[in-house]
Amino acid sequence: MSVSLTDYRDFVDESKISEIYRKGSRISRRHILHISSTYYGGGVAEILRSLVPLLNDVGIDVGWRTVVGSPDFFRVTKKFHNALQGDKIALTKMKKKVYEETNEIFSKFTHVEHDLVVVHDPQPLPLIKFYKKKQPWIWRCHIDLSNPNEKLWDYLKSFVIPYDLVVYHTEEFAMRGFSENYRVIKPSIDPLSIKNIDLPGETVKKYLKKAGVVEGKPLISQVSRFDKWKDPIGVLKVFDLVRREMDCQLFLVGDIAIDDPEGQKMHERVLSEVKGRRDVRLILGAHDILVNAIQRASDVVLQKSIREGFGLSVSEALWKKTPVVASNVGGLPTQVIDGETGYLVDPMDYEAAAKKVMDLLSDPTLREKMGEKGREHVKKNFLITRHIEDWIDLWTEILEENGGD
Ligand code: UDP
Repeated sequence: MSVSLTDYRDFVDESKISEIYRKGSRISRRHILHISSTYYGGGVAEILRSLVPLLNDVGIDVGWRTVVGSPDFFRVTKKFHNALQGDKIALTKMKKKVYEETNEIFSKFTHVEHDLVVVHDPQPLPLIKFYKKKQPWIWRCHIDLSNPNEKLWDYLKSFVIPYDLVVYHTEEFAMRGFSENYRVIKPSIDPLSIKNIDLPGETVKKYLKKAGVVEGKPLISQVSRFDKWKDPIGVLKVFDLVRREMDCQLFLVGDIAIDDPEGQKMHERVLSEVKGRRDVRLILGAHDILVNAIQRASDVVLQKSIREGFGLSVSEALWKKTPVVASNVGGLPTQVIDGETGYLVDPMDYEAAAKKVMDLLSDPTLREKMGEKGREHVKKNFLITRHIEDWIDLWTEILEENGGD
């Protein structure tokens, strides 16, 4: 079924939708290209999957390509990702070679004749170096930059400098970012995607039953890639503390992104931890409707990340009126307003997280109140319609600066 922005009238005013179409038509002759590292797994793919078709509906010719790389390439870029989020790295010549050569090869068979290019995250970042730059390039950074490895930062900066602009998720990252020439654009969720669409109670029940959720037992969940930064082991620790005091169940829903070679190992580790634990289920690669049902039916959603770019799963849960207990890191505090849409805790404070989970489990009125506020917060700030308008405004400004339409 083809998507149309007019389908979003239930969520934003018709006048706003007309305005977005009007704005879109101003740059409708333009071709814009997104380049990321995967069509599947993680927030970037999730966002682009909805954003790109809707931008086309608005009349702009927007494409999306993914960089093609070997397992070696993705091993290197995952190490870069980790180091940007604070890990150590041995920045060897070999790593740089694999990184740069993959981008160079990709540039040879992927010609870019578009009017503007948006590059997502570090994997395709060096591409700019291998093209004759004929148009504005934007680097869209989705990573938590609160504590980057300085050596790697310095190396990557050499690729960022030629970009016209860097776009971050939050001011905090921008302050510590690569360029003073930046904008902040918040990510968004698509309320009409299978993951987020309202589901009838019967459908939710059916999927929960199939997945093994025990009806009537309080449900806690975390939906995240199997990645150490999402701290699934920490989630188990928090759950153990809660489970000692209250009868409840935990669902750890996770997947492995194609560009994340560490996912498999992390999954195995979590699997071995889960074995022998009561009331804990691990689901690998759940389809979107099950993710939807679990986020919707959970009494509390956890997002116990140690670092987090934005954390789309949180807005997804809030949209479904489920309060979230999240670490106070990265993009999470923009979504979880402490004491209003959920609670924020120190990422290493398991007791604090457990206490907040228990406060919520034991108070249905509080959950309901926070759930309502969560949905309102997402509606106001993190819906795709706002995101589309932000991009159109920015592209229009940059294209006009670069010689008009
Ligand atoms: N996700 C999913 N199934 C899973 C785990 C995650 O569909 O088993 C989705 C999740 O619903 C969200 C995205 O993957 O849409 C994760 O985005 P987020 O920004 O939270 O984290 P990232 O993976 O980008 O670090």
